[in-house]
Amino acid sequence: MLSNQHSLSVYIHIPFCRQKCHYCDFLSWPNRIEDLDTYVEALLAEVDLYRGRLAERPVATVFFGGGTPSLLTGVHTSRILEKLASAGSLTKDAEITMEANPEQLTLGQLKAYRQAGVNRLSLGLQSTHDPLLAFLGRRHTAADFYRVVELACQAGFVNMNADLIFGIPGQQLEQWQESLETLEAMKISHLSCYGLTFEPGTPLHRQRDSGTVCAADEDLEYAMFRWGIEWLQQKGYQHYEISNYALPGKSCLHNITYWENREYLGFGAGAHGFLSGERTANSQQMESYVAAIYQGEFPYMSCEKIGLAESVSETMFLGLRMRRGISETVFESRYGRSMASFFEKEITELMQRGLLEQQSGFLRLTEKGIDLSNLVFEKLLVSSG
Ligand code: SF4
Repeated sequence: MLSNQHSLSVYIHIPFCRQKCHYCDFLSWPNRIEDLDTYVEALLAEVDLYRGRLAERPVATVFFGGGTPSLLTGVHTSRILEKLASAGSLTKDAEITMEANPEQLTLGQLKAYRQAGVNRLSLGLQSTHDPLLAFLGRRHTAADFYRVVELACQAGFVNMNADLIFGIPGQQLEQWQESLETLEAMKISHLSCYGLTFEPGTPLHRQRDSGTVCAADEDLEYAMFRWGIEWLQQKGYQHYEISNYALPGKSCLHNITYWENREYLGFGAGAHGFLSGERTANSQQMESYVAAIYQGEFPYMSCEKIGLAESVSETMFLGLRMRRGISETVFESRYGRSMASFFEKEITELMQRGLLEQQSGFLRLTEKGIDLSNLVFEKLLVSSG
């Protein structure tokens, strides 16, 4: 536990995509793939800017996120991981995740990622129903996903996540159940299940506003969420975070860093970092990102000092996302005070309402609290102000 607290996580953003999905508001640049080599060179130079910090602490998790990181070649990936290793130390058993879209992966590419050190694949599946994939603007089919899982197994991947979306307009409860049943039968070791959100600025948001698309019925979306929780647990998946499920031993260590509000470095355009009480966000423009790095400067768009009240609040609402909740001992050793000393009134009220409970030295959401988690988080957020 202690070495884990001391270790760092690294997030690497690869903001290139072949096309923009209809619901996407992530930082991703469609049709700029020709800039990928230039971008990777800048990324390597950015790692050099952090040499001092990387030398101080071992890196226990690396996450290539996007965008579409699987546009990277095996050579790009090796060079980035070698650069990180040479700047400090990647722990021997570091969890190294690559997000990938199913449509383009080949066996050669998957083997090259494995050889470079990637040991976890996170596949953006979203649904096993092709009409729903087309509705979302995804480029792949369910068959592409099945093919890639087979190739990934051949390449030696045993640790795989599939991202899924529920509450897609037109999606039936049975289709959602079928998607989960298919993935369980395939023994996919980790599932991330998120309700569809209509993000401002996306085509889907505009379609809803113009009335050409109707959001899913709230009761149906809730039924999908609840069915997932109950059925996946029956099948041996641990519901370890509100939206995430894992077979034993396959939880995502990188994301646990975020939920435990621990420190990480972010490399790449738009990447966020959290170190020494500061939250940083890199420039979202390729040109300014690259220019800053070659001038020897951190390519920050913003850098914000996090005060005590904000830090405590973040630790609370991030930690409560995990089913085990927040360790009272870890909290006290971090802040020198108990959770109750910061949030006595709120915790008492939320416990009386049956939304929070204490169990084995952890404060956590109850089943009812999971359904009303936003209400709990708001309470803790407002109180920190
Ligand atoms: S592949 Fe991912 S990052 Fe790229 S446009 Fe689609 S949802 Fe966004």
